[in-house]
Amino acid sequence: MEMRELVDKLNRYAREYYELDNPTVSDKEYDELYYTLAEMEKATGITLPDSPTHRVGGAPLKNFVRYDHRQRLYSLDKAKDENELAAYFSRVEKVVGAFPEMTLEHKFDGLTLSLTYENGVLITAATRGDGVTGEEVTSQVRTIKSVPLNIEYKGLIEIQGEGVMRLSSLAKYNEQAAVPLKNARNGVAGAIRNLDPKVTASRNLDFVAYNVGYSDRRFASQSEVNAFLREQKFLTDEAFCLIKDEKAAISKLKEIEENRDKLDFLIDGAVLKINSFALREELGFTDKFPRWAIAYKFEAEETTTVVKDVVWQVSRTSKINPLAILEPVELMGVTVKRATLNNYSDIQKKDIKINSRVFIRRSNDVIPEITGISEHTKDSYDIAKPSVCPYCGAPVKEEGAFLYCTNPSHCAPTIIASLTHFAEKGCMDIDGFSEKTAELLLNELEVKQPYQLYDLTAEQLLTLDGFKEKKADNLLKAIEKSKQVTLDRFLFALGIPGIGKKTAKVLAERFGSIDDLKLATKEELVGIDDFGEILAGNVVDYFADEKNLETISELFARGITVKEEEKKEGVFSGRNVVLTGSLSSFKRSAAAKEITERGGKVSDNVSSSVNLVIVGEDAGSKKQKAEKLGIEIWDEAKFISVLKESE
Ligand code: NAD
Repeated sequence: MEMRELVDKLNRYAREYYELDNPTVSDKEYDELYYTLAEMEKATGITLPDSPTHRVGGAPLKNFVRYDHRQRLYSLDKAKDENELAAYFSRVEKVVGAFPEMTLEHKFDGLTLSLTYENGVLITAATRGDGVTGEEVTSQVRTIKSVPLNIEYKGLIEIQGEGVMRLSSLAKYNEQAAVPLKNARNGVAGAIRNLDPKVTASRNLDFVAYNVGYSDRRFASQSEVNAFLREQKFLTDEAFCLIKDEKAAISKLKEIEENRDKLDFLIDGAVLKINSFALREELGFTDKFPRWAIAYKFEAEETTTVVKDVVWQVSRTSKINPLAILEPVELMGVTVKRATLNNYSDIQKKDIKINSRVFIRRSNDVIPEITGISEHTKDSYDIAKPSVCPYCGAPVKEEGAFLYCTNPSHCAPTIIASLTHFAEKGCMDIDGFSEKTAELLLNELEVKQPYQLYDLTAEQLLTLDGFKEKKADNLLKAIEKSKQVTLDRFLFALGIPGIGKKTAKVLAERFGSIDDLKLATKEELVGIDDFGEILAGNVVDYFADEKNLETISELFARGITVKEEEKKEGVFSGRNVVLTGSLSSFKRSAAAKEITERGGKVSDNVSSSVNLVIVGEDAGSKKQKAEKLGIEIWDEAKFISVLKESE
């Protein structure tokens, strides 16, 4: 691509991203083009006057009041791998002599904000804009609960940080939104650069402070700034730490990247900054970024590709799910060919069509999700909703947003999937049992119900294709061994709609036995973490259905024994803990897991049986109740330090 064409393309994308808050390419694609341009400029020594490599952000929107920053805001230099990071460190060492002490922080993926306080009062809030002039968004920012409207410090000061949308808030918002947000970054940008502060408030944003801009107070280091921000009651980054050498930097970056999925915030990397402000002066700035800091970018979790087709698959709960077949694309080291689409109403809300370009996001190792549309083409066409089951031809019924096959007990994919699920690791763990085995058993021996597995004989198995004595014997032994099972695995194996590994564990820990769980009411279940009305209803309905009770008693009649849960031991042994308020470093469920893995129990409500309450930001009545009852209270920092000590 010619340099002119490349610059025009990048400028168009930057306008869509910074000014319209509606990007049509992913950051990954933008960054690749940007690097190509930077390389081209280096090789030719030519830089076009409107090149994005020499500009920060985008122009302020016309319908906002322009705001001139007292101190200019910059972008950050980037390193995309360890080699680029090493090259950066040697550039720095050349200037300052040795590896300087650095700070390391999460690189939040949100919208840069600069808040100005005078006499301890928030007087203005502005976006970064082009670094010199931003948009004034004070009334929008005032709706963010983690922005203190008053601070103790009385001088004139600019506090810089990132407006972010928690992933849990994004998920909650998208559940009921007419048009779901593509990602948390767009969620924040669209909410703040919106003339109606009510829209900002509805998105439930947060503000993480990481810097001081103009100030009439002098600071000597980043750690001093960080401590000051905490003192002034700003939400700061829990990952903030000091780095002494290159090795420590690499190992900390790896740790953060590995744990990024546990965070409730979107991050796209980590930022290393020289701690001492005196040393920073020796390095100074380019026209785009400070030379005393570098952002280490993690592998992108999002890209775009084209939907080639949509196929409908029948699940073990007889749900008919759409699966998108994609133009293959590289993402996080793998070639992605398929993506989930949740349900038909999701397709409609996101306006997904065949032959359209879409955004896909991948986290963990799960199949990626289509998060929104990038562009339709002239060949785009609507995805048809099936009216009959694609496998057995039975009519389809609609329940809420989902489609179901109306004849599941005769629909082969449902039977095969539920038998395979029953036998899986994490369920009954029948070694050597695969989807192929389920298919053979159904087709040749008419095994349709899990309990029929326990009636199988060697003679029967020997009639199956590929089964010799050894294989048949191994399978029978594995089936026999599976009769001893823990309650959580048994509950997961039953295939109660919506109950996964994690929720099965919650139920097992809470109720201790099938008999007690059978008696649970919907109200009781709704009180439990992760259990909403729908999930609680599913559990109650499951145990109210005679057919399911019969399946369970058939299983018990064949000698299935549900073992007691193994008790974990650790620093939280004997502790009954309540988590309240928002934690900045964890999702609530991840924090609960850390506690249960160390022997503790997690409850939802403060009562006299609770002996520890961990409070995050904005903790309300639960904290007050704990104080009244004289229960021990920890803040997030204390919780993190206990977790670290007990690793
Ligand atoms: P940047 O967002 O990569 O880095 C600078 C910003 O990082 C700062 O403004 C600050 O707000 C933020 N930041 C987060 N945590 C921080 C911390 N702890 N300390 C300091 N700063 C922190 O830089 P940029 O130049 O604003 O944006 C470039 C990025 O935007 C590119 O990487 C690109 O992926 C994306 N972009 C995407 C498109 C698109 O079409 N998808 C278009 C333009 C830009």
